[in-house]
Amino acid sequence: MTILDVKSDFPILDQTINGHQLVYLDSAATAQKPQVVIDAVNDYYKFDNANVHRGVHTLGQRATDAYEGARETVTKFINAKQSKEIIFTRGTTESINIVARSYGDAFITAGDEIVLTEMEHHSNLIPWQQVAKRTGATLKFIPLEADGTMTMTAVKQTVTEKTKLVAITHVSNVLGTINPIKDITAHAHDMGAVVVVDGAQAVPHMAVDVQDLDCDFYAFSGHKMGAPTGIGVLYGKEKLLNQMDPVDYGGEMIDFVSLTDATWKELPWKFEGGTPIIAGAVGLASAIGYLQSIGFDKITAHEQALTDYAIKELKKIDGIDIYGPDKRCGLVTFNLTDVHPHDTATVLDSFGVAVRAGHHCCQPLMKWLKVTATARASFYVYNTFEDVDLFIDGLKQAKEFFG
Ligand code: PLP
Repeated sequence: MTILDVKSDFPILDQTINGHQLVYLDSAATAQKPQVVIDAVNDYYKFDNANVHRGVHTLGQRATDAYEGARETVTKFINAKQSKEIIFTRGTTESINIVARSYGDAFITAGDEIVLTEMEHHSNLIPWQQVAKRTGATLKFIPLEADGTMTMTAVKQTVTEKTKLVAITHVSNVLGTINPIKDITAHAHDMGAVVVVDGAQAVPHMAVDVQDLDCDFYAFSGHKMGAPTGIGVLYGKEKLLNQMDPVDYGGEMIDFVSLTDATWKELPWKFEGGTPIIAGAVGLASAIGYLQSIGFDKITAHEQALTDYAIKELKKIDGIDIYGPDKRCGLVTFNLTDVHPHDTATVLDSFGVAVRAGHHCCQPLMKWLKVTATARASFYVYNTFEDVDLFIDGLKQAKEFFG
């Protein structure tokens, strides 16, 4: 059963690796790019390239229209109320760091609590460790169930009136857990806390509506959804963004400058110091258009079917540990008993199958899983059931090879 048949839209996948057809199962690290995105970026540089916002000439106007048009596309894509709530960044990491620096440093004080989970990617952990160090706030972690989910009871026990900010991933890049962001946000708001969501592993795979979630900030990266590297998004509620100071000072973000002082542009530009990532934004808008032309209902169903099939086949292999809950998003993390995941990944690569091995930027979660590293196969729109079969075949051979 094939739900989607879009592999031919991705030119990079039409190649052999080590004499085998490439099977790319590392999309959670970065996704491949469809031809339409490559063309959009190429055409931008070929026909429209100029700096934005200042040029009165035609190319300057075209580049500005493309860049601000991309902001409109993102606004509608995540159903933000208004485009001034969409800030272009380099990716999830930069987006979260902006909130930590600008909101965290200004509004969190000694004695406040910042609530995270043990499944956070380092990008949604270290910025808050640093805020805690700078402000004297305390970090608290919502405990996980054995399968890597969390209950609302645990959320309510951890997020209390002392909580100033909750920073939580929408989808775990290791376990695939889909966290109940809407419920967590509702409770956090009852406690008077703001909520920052790391959407890096959610936005590429499911329809996300920031107004429905009601979160205060939402961060994601273009490169995990078919756009170029170096472009990402920070969504923030206008009221909060207006209370925050810029992080990067310099060109593009100013209104009036004297020798001793300066004033800032209004939202969103006050957070976009320096020449922005114009071609990246063009590529992101194109990637969004591509994914929407397929439809997120189909994308989610396709990835669910692939993941379920992969887990069913993996469970038939003796001596394999699979981590994460039954209901998960687009990936499976595992270890073969007594085989280091790097060895597993190396053997799979010799069969043309690309999977990731390591701590996946989640060292505390590895500790929680009581392992030092894992292997991870992650799926995207272009993967097929045949890809899963080739992955399972390769894995069986790896197991035989290591005895
Ligand atoms: N958060 C999660 C859950 C991720 O999986 C990643 C990337 O792997 C990031 C944050 C960081 O994204 P980026 O490196 O694009 O900033």
